Amino acid sequence: MTPSPSAPGGIFAVQCPNPKCKKFMFVEERDRDKVVPCLLCKSPIRVGGNSPAPGGTR
Ligand SMILES: [Zn+2]
Repeated sequence: MTPSPSAPGGIFAVQCPNPKCKKFMFVEERDRDKVVPCLLCKSPIRVGGNSPAPGGTR
């Protein structure tokens, strides 16, 4: 409800989906719903709070 263009401290952690990497990285809030490359293996990491559920119940 409070649109703040520059929210301080808006970062959260994501984990690399690569089972051989599994690196944790911090991305900025503005990068949510985007895909960022892993710093190590360059795998595309989907930034988002909820993990995708294949074959969801809904
Ligand atoms: Zn990785």
